Amino acid sequence: MKFSSASLLLAALAVAACDSKTATLGEAGTSSATVEAIAGAPAEAGTSGTSATATDEANATPAPDPSAIPASSTGNAAAILARPQVPILCYHQIRDWTARDSKNAKDYIIPVAQFKAQMKMLADSGYHTILPDQLYAYMTTGAKLPSKPIMLTFDDTDLDQFTVARPTLEQYGYKAVYFVMTVSLGRPRYMTKAHVKQLSDEGNVIGSHTWDHHNVKKYQGQDWVTQIEKPTKTLEEITGKKINYFAYPFGLWNAQAFPELKSRGFVAAFSLAEKRDQNDPLFTIRRIIASGYWSPRTLHNSIVQSF
Ligand SMILES: [Zn+2]
Repeated sequence: MKFSSASLLLAALAVAACDSKTATLGEAGTSSATVEAIAGAPAEAGTSGTSATATDEANATPAPDPSAIPASSTGNAAAILARPQVPILCYHQIRDWTARDSKNAKDYIIPVAQFKAQMKMLADSGYHTILPDQLYAYMTTGAKLPSKPIMLTFDDTDLDQFTVARPTLEQYGYKAVYFVMTVSLGRPRYMTKAHVKQLSDEGNVIGSHTWDHHNVKKYQGQDWVTQIEKPTKTLEEITGKKINYFAYPFGLWNAQAFPELKSRGFVAAFSLAEKRDQNDPLFTIRRIIASGYWSPRTLHNSIVQSF
């Protein structure tokens, strides 16, 4: 089997996609506010807790279009920062480990059974998935969220997100956000345009994750077109919907990126565990990488401690 250098690069990116330490607690502790709903104990695997159902509250709650929310709300950083953070999990590959997977890579590769156990724990613990428009309305206006809200995000377009995560989430009535890097669409082991379209049609949200995963902090001039404008337009053509949300490759950002993203129609952007920008929290929404090493209980503890 022959590999082009591009596909080797993609393979390398796939496991090195986000280089933040998963267990970093970020700004936990900087705010006394904690989402009360997440403070409870996790449901034990195997117990029949209050599972979310296919008609869970989250999906029944309509969220306003972000463009309907006035600048007086979206520009009020202090009010946004004062609200408790909603836990957001970031996943990459969902597959069993092989002998070739490095120790570090395994943070980004979650074995199938481990992933299923994590989702079952969330459902048994009563978590409801929310989508970015709901989060945006909550962050900017304090709009009500379902009980025990959580957001699930999947980066880098890996095929197993469609073949493994999607049916698992479906069992619990969960929806998610898929941050797509467009260079990988249709390549072996990655999703196709049809997969992305189907995820979108089924009520999930597609977000932009650049063309080929280059670090936003290094963009100059035409890079904004190549990495942001064109791929986002591609995703809008695939889904038939406006793309409002962006995730930084490797979670890396700087303040210079905010006006560039805003001028290209984004209303919010997602980073990883580091502290939020104090002037622009909507463009540094925190997520934690749910490690392949984490049992359901460890995941629950991380959720409680990190947000
Ligand atoms: Zn990525």
